Amino acid sequence: MERKIKLALVGIGAIARSQHIPVLAASGDFSLAATVSRHEGVEGVANFPDLDALLASDAAVDAVSFCTPPQGRAAMARAALDAGLHVMLEKPPGETVEEVAALARMAEAKGLTLFASWHSREAAGIEPARAWLADKQIKAVRIVWKEDVRVWHPGQEWIWQPGGLGVFDPGINALSIATLILPGALAVEAATLLIPSNCQTPIAADLRLTLDGAPIVSAEFDWRQTGPQSWDIVVETDADPLVLAEGGGRLAIADAPVPLGETREYEGLYRRFAALIHARACDVDLAPLRLVADAFLLAERRTTDAFED
Ligand code: NAP
Repeated sequence: MERKIKLALVGIGAIARSQHIPVLAASGDFSLAATVSRHEGVEGVANFPDLDALLASDAAVDAVSFCTPPQGRAAMARAALDAGLHVMLEKPPGETVEEVAALARMAEAKGLTLFASWHSREAAGIEPARAWLADKQIKAVRIVWKEDVRVWHPGQEWIWQPGGLGVFDPGINALSIATLILPGALAVEAATLLIPSNCQTPIAADLRLTLDGAPIVSAEFDWRQTGPQSWDIVVETDADPLVLAEGGGRLAIADAPVPLGETREYEGLYRRFAALIHARACDVDLAPLRLVADAFLLAERRTTDAFED
């Protein structure tokens, strides 16, 4: 049996604690060899206050997984690749399209793995939805991604700052699904952004998109949703309608539920990262980030009430 890949986890915040750490603890492919945290790491695991300190140490590490906010991640990823380490990036993979493309070129040139992960693509309904839609003619697509920012992002200042994406932080998950399951190319045609007067990023956004040139796709992203949350994609086809709900964890075709296994997104991500490392391959799909960038380029901006956490 091959030895486990020694991994360092950078940024011990909400997603590192809820997903990465427990999944790595049970992983047959990886062992958590180090953490990089300005505050606290993980009991029993060597912690370094910043990435430079880790790279300057004699800690044995093969790969790094970044769970920091997108701002500032590219410089750290570059340093990790420069040190000969394989790199996995949380979504969104970076602040700009070009900085991630440059990382991909660097990883390819060095024969290292760069994995720009999209966790929502690992939800149980995604692959069956993609396979079913592959030979359908798409008539209309409605994406509704509405959640309560105070529940999911309490106290996270970076989401409201430049590069933080605002409501596109969850919205890009919907776009990562849509770009994978729809048989055609999506492009943004129009966008409206609602930006709190004290923030740099939108709290809500409406997008109109084309699919292979046809203006048949809409997306509504809203962070002001209280009560039930909506993470739904409805696809009308020349056959039956398909509904992906709960972020891809539930799938119905012609109103009939499709039996699915349990959604285990991060197990899937780390399995894929290990396979890529063994194959010395990269997986960097920038399509979702490009759509968000285009939405910012095209958007009509409206100011709304200041946001207080
Ligand atoms: P978070 O709770 O704010 O944690 C981010 C961590 O990164 C912080 O705890 C901090 O860790 C480190 N960090 C380094 N520089 C920072 C800075 N300038 N400002 C704030 N934190 C900094 O964020 P998160 O929710 O875990 O999100 C991190 C990434 O995962 C984002 O790209 C997000 O889109 C993605 N993600 C989040 C979720 C979710 O539900 N929360 C789900 C999927 C993906 P130390 O204190 O250890 O230094």
